[in-house]
Amino acid sequence: MIAAQHFGSISGGKDSQAVLCRMVERIERKGLAAFGNRAPRFLSADNGHENPITLDHIAYLDDWLRQRTGLRIETVSANDVPGLTDAAAFARKRAMLREEWSKEKRRTRHKGACNQRRAAWQAGTITRAEWTARCNCPVLVSPPVPDPLIKQALGLLHPTGIPFLDMVMLHGRFPGTKTRFCTDETKLIPMMHRKRPLLDAGLSIIDWIGERADESPARAKKPPIQSKRHPTGARRVLYRPIFRWSAADAFAISERHGLKHNPLYTMGMSRVGCSTCIMVRKRELRAWAMRFPAEVDRVREWERLVGLVSRRTAVTGTPASLLPAPTVPGDPADHGRATIDWAIAWSRTGRGGHNYDLFLDLERREADEQGLRCDSEYGLCE
Ligand code: SF4
Repeated sequence: MIAAQHFGSISGGKDSQAVLCRMVERIERKGLAAFGNRAPRFLSADNGHENPITLDHIAYLDDWLRQRTGLRIETVSANDVPGLTDAAAFARKRAMLREEWSKEKRRTRHKGACNQRRAAWQAGTITRAEWTARCNCPVLVSPPVPDPLIKQALGLLHPTGIPFLDMVMLHGRFPGTKTRFCTDETKLIPMMHRKRPLLDAGLSIIDWIGERADESPARAKKPPIQSKRHPTGARRVLYRPIFRWSAADAFAISERHGLKHNPLYTMGMSRVGCSTCIMVRKRELRAWAMRFPAEVDRVREWERLVGLVSRRTAVTGTPASLLPAPTVPGDPADHGRATIDWAIAWSRTGRGGHNYDLFLDLERREADEQGLRCDSEYGLCE
């Protein structure tokens, strides 16, 4: 067997919990010999935007793991990675913002056939000159930003110590569905930061990942095992031990071990990570807003702060929006954006987003009067 360090990634969700159970079972059956006599390591990323219930659940799993094996879950953060969300990153951002905001900004909004010619240029079938020569698309001109707004933004651009917020302030915007830098910068990169020194030293790593084929057509196309060679010759192996499992199988293994599930599943959430995820579903958004008003207040405050360091919103004096347009239909009176309050109001409407649905009103009243209902998508309480 090649020398390798095994890692498990713990998100607080049912699939990574199932993988944790598989790894613990293996240790208990075969001892550390099953992992090349090297204790497996368990990593969890705290990005400061997690639901507090998920953080509590990870602490509960850590306690269970310690009792069963003596091992612990290590917490990683973007704050550990030099240059990612630290003072140096903010100093670079301040210098860039000062320079860019004091100049006029021109942006061409390419349309229709021009977009097709641009795609042809990107594909290498025509030259850039051939594309731009026929472009007569409108140019949007944004004048230099007034000095007091620049000063205000510069005053805010310092690390808060909250990785998700700092990442967003540095980008000057929240992530979108196509530019999903949140996963990379607040989860994957901090985890890789712990693993890279091992690869650099020539030790292979094996990542146990809780992905299942039936989650989405894109996931179904992934192989159960993937391997890449690092420049030192070490291998980085991605191993999906529950690839062919159903969601029910993932819940079942925890039950066999007497482990509780993340309570968010019984509160109607199908995703239990960020609070709330930028790709939240309509009914989950409604449930989240109803159950976690303090989290809504936090997100509203973040939208205000990010609005002040984003050129367009700083000038218009409006907040930024956590939820991107494909997740929530935006406010036509606000450039199609959907602030958290707009999004929550939309989540309480019926199909089509126009009428308040009587059923939803009843559901809210019930929740208020009788405590919160259990409406797990996974049938946990049936
Ligand atoms: S859970 Fe959603 S918001 Fe959080 S990092 Fe992943 S994609 Fe981004």
